[in-house]
Amino acid sequence: MSKFVFVTGGVVSSLGKGISAASLAKLLQGRGLKVTLLKCDPYINVDPGTMNPYQHGEVFVTEDGAETDLDLGHYERFLNVDMHHTNNFTAGQVYETVIAKERRGEFLGNTVQVIPHITDEIKSRIRLAAKGHDVAIVEIGGTVGDIESLPFVEAARQLGLEVGKENVLYVHVTLLPYIRASEELKTKPTQHSVGKLREIGINPDLIICRSEKPVTPDLRAKIAMFCSVHKEAVVQAPDVSTIYEVPVVFQKQGVDEQVLMLLRQRATGKDFDSWKSMVERLKNPRHEVNIVLAGKYTGVKDAYKSVDEALVHGGLAHDAKVKIRYVDTAASDLQGSLEGADGIIVPGGFGDRGIEGKLLAIQAAREGLIPYFGLCLGMQLAVIEYARNVLKLANANSTEFDEATRYPVIDILPEQKKVTVKGATMRLGSYPCTVRKGSLAHRAYGALTVNERHRHRFEMNNKYRKLIEEAGLQVTGTFAPKDLAEIVELRDHPWFLATQFHPEFKSRPEVPHPLFSAFIGAALARARGRAPRPQGTYAKS
Ligand code: GLN
Repeated sequence: MSKFVFVTGGVVSSLGKGISAASLAKLLQGRGLKVTLLKCDPYINVDPGTMNPYQHGEVFVTEDGAETDLDLGHYERFLNVDMHHTNNFTAGQVYETVIAKERRGEFLGNTVQVIPHITDEIKSRIRLAAKGHDVAIVEIGGTVGDIESLPFVEAARQLGLEVGKENVLYVHVTLLPYIRASEELKTKPTQHSVGKLREIGINPDLIICRSEKPVTPDLRAKIAMFCSVHKEAVVQAPDVSTIYEVPVVFQKQGVDEQVLMLLRQRATGKDFDSWKSMVERLKNPRHEVNIVLAGKYTGVKDAYKSVDEALVHGGLAHDAKVKIRYVDTAASDLQGSLEGADGIIVPGGFGDRGIEGKLLAIQAAREGLIPYFGLCLGMQLAVIEYARNVLKLANANSTEFDEATRYPVIDILPEQKKVTVKGATMRLGSYPCTVRKGSLAHRAYGALTVNERHRHRFEMNNKYRKLIEEAGLQVTGTFAPKDLAEIVELRDHPWFLATQFHPEFKSRPEVPHPLFSAFIGAALARARGRAPRPQGTYAKS
């Protein structure tokens, strides 16, 4: 049977609960346990796919094509295992299931209520995702005391009762605010938030304290006393330079031992050295490279989370610190902001705002022989830029932005045209891609078939493919069953590659994505004034 660790948050949101949960999981994985992670989101949307990145940050896509909370990205990156649609669910999904059951008459004769029907559904989803694992770490979104998260916290309480004390652990992540005037960290908000948790019937076993300053032994003792836990169960989580250091910080405080003891779980191993040395390399890079990310959600910290992280991993592969500069393509003076770029990346996106600026950035990369990496929309725009400026197909466009364009070099497939509902109806999840021999992609992957994740509706229009390829923008990766373009590369350029899929979702610090590490390699060569020679024509596959 699985054991459960519930992670709740107190005081304020954005405390890095996801990172704390993933770090706990990493430590337990290092002790030889089979661990999984789940995220419960208390909002009513069925999934975050229909939400604006301004509100919710990036939408993370799993192998099985679920559009999920970005914390699942952290889970995959920390654990180096794939998550599935079962690892993330929302209040919307829970209600949808319960209401469908009610309509089918499965509760006939009963009043359908939050307790027990909604909480039962939550528990059964948690148990399902935990199946086959020694420990399931369940992160509950929101902050304790929110109306929305109540049923989830209640379900956590009930589940604890069902499985017994030695099989469940409650972790509360809180903030100790620093008051500059009196130069002290304050514990009162934590006491109140633990009080809130107690009102619902949960006593936390472990308290993770986020703070800008070190927590003194006195303060730890105070929190322990007020919150009724052992002193060792008060864990510090100070700000660190890289999120990947958090498991190391926890380990130094014996958190893995604490958790194992509280869960009465025997450990079978101790394997944490490779992670630690990865963190050391990350903190002490020998080189530096400047990457411009040209996007439109540049003001939102989490909008391009996986791209940011994949770039960091690409840097790790070359012992390089990746300095990312976010350029808002809807703003003016784009040209000036590209100055000093060793590489340019255009990430995914929807809608036409900022498109012209992105096209300019791509043109600058193409003509200036600056390494370019396009992701999804970044590939579609690379095709549009090429069609307009090299093939002189005036106003060539994607039908997403101009339905009446004379040259629809990016278009929607007939099956997508029929789609009228927005949720979960894009081309989603993992598809195989056949890679052309001798291409940049082939060299990077070292393989001729790869699997990559998708999230888009539009595709390169095959009507224009021959024309575009003959001019020099080659299709070097395809989804063979439908002959869809998956990768394009430019001949006569040091490194210009764009993908219809999202490689960023599959990059991990322990296994940097080959395309990200090749891109950073090319950018680094440019930074050192040793740009690789243009590659010439590719062999036919
Ligand atoms: N808007 C484009 C499409 O739907 C690209 C999507 C993306 O970049 N994820 O095809």
